[in-house]
Amino acid sequence: MSDQILWGYWLTTLVLFVVLFFMWRRFKMKLWARVLTGLVFGGITGFIFGGGVAGCLDQAACAPASSKFLGDMFVRLIRMLVVPLIFTTLAAGVIAMGDPKRLGSLGGRALGMYVGTSLIAVAIGLTFGTLLRPGAGMELSNVTSGAVDNVKSQLDLAAGAGGLTERLVAIIPENPIAALANADVLSIIFWAIIFGVGILMSGETGKPVARVIESAAEAVLKVTEIVMELAPYGVYALIAWVISTQGLGILTNLGMLALTCLLAFVVHSLFVYGSIIKIIARLPVKRYYEGIVDAQAVAFSTASSNATLPITIANVSENLGVKKVVAGSVLPLGATINMDGTAIYLGIITLFASQALGLSMGFGDYLLVAITVTLASVGTAGIPSASLLLAATVFSVIGITAEQSVIIIALIFPFDRILDMMRTTVNVSGDAAVAVAVANWEGSLDRDVFIAKSVQ
Ligand code: ASP
Repeated sequence: MSDQILWGYWLTTLVLFVVLFFMWRRFKMKLWARVLTGLVFGGITGFIFGGGVAGCLDQAACAPASSKFLGDMFVRLIRMLVVPLIFTTLAAGVIAMGDPKRLGSLGGRALGMYVGTSLIAVAIGLTFGTLLRPGAGMELSNVTSGAVDNVKSQLDLAAGAGGLTERLVAIIPENPIAALANADVLSIIFWAIIFGVGILMSGETGKPVARVIESAAEAVLKVTEIVMELAPYGVYALIAWVISTQGLGILTNLGMLALTCLLAFVVHSLFVYGSIIKIIARLPVKRYYEGIVDAQAVAFSTASSNATLPITIANVSENLGVKKVVAGSVLPLGATINMDGTAIYLGIITLFASQALGLSMGFGDYLLVAITVTLASVGTAGIPSASLLLAATVFSVIGITAEQSVIIIALIFPFDRILDMMRTTVNVSGDAAVAVAVANWEGSLDRDVFIAKSVQ
């Protein structure tokens, strides 16, 4: 890379950052508008100063890759909040319920919605995969052996995660402090809920701890607000890096697959989430989308529901009027187990694989795929590329061998980032929609905030 390109890139970036800062300080430009500006300009500068359509062959020599560290710093800042936020907001949420029995109705409703929306998601994915046939005529012999080996080793790593019962047992932490230190999200959720219940049951004696947790939750949310102000810059740096290193060609290489996923994502987001907001909560759909723009942009640029969680909680409680009791309990669970975008995606790539391999699928196969995909989406961690590594399990139920799976996954792997960005955005939007519905049922939705203040 020539020095001029590097200087040009950094100069443009600095000018944009200064402009963004002034738009905030002087013109009070709203956060969501600044985040979107960062997203769009990150894409533009990444394209111009990076590798264009093809992407940079040598990533180290890519000018926009030199600012990736800013994106990494932003991601670390939000990840830093995940553990304290889940623990304090969830425990504070349980305490605020005042009665452990409410937990059952809240949890039951949230889980019901998660399963319901995931099943609809798989159905939509399978419908689009059947109609558009993204895998038809795919050349599998082009996959290089290097790519296959790379995927094999990644799959081995994923397989090390253990079976279903093992994972269920592991949710109960032997040592809550270790769970917090290792950021084991499900174990932290488990401990926070049970600790909250314990505090409630302690009555008067538990009050001092309750107050400490409530004020800690408030403080952590304030830190989240500080970190969110950095979102425009972080999002910019991450998008510039993705677009410059992967190129826009990333969208056309597996064009039909990307298009099928995109259409299914859009239909699911508009109709399913639109209906939840309009029909169940009886609120304006536009406000819902405006209210979660920050979370969507961060999900899109980080491709991780977990890393986005603090922003999702802040958006949903401040812009959509969901009381902290619900936002703090439903959203951490959602980020971990509710993944509609992932369910759509797994459904589509399973059909993609069967079409590429020339397998025919009967009704029973579809049913089997729907069930396995729903379970797999629950088991997917909210981190980048997690579901692609689970795909082999889903493939196996329709008789695709391990070798064939590795070839298909190796084919998709290099382009997975952009698909991951899209599905993670859907995952996070789904968590927010379910939180609104549950809050509505639980009488914990501040409708005035939703309507009047949803755009901060
Ligand atoms: N990256 C996704 C998420 O964090 C999970 C996946 O790979 O589908 O939500």
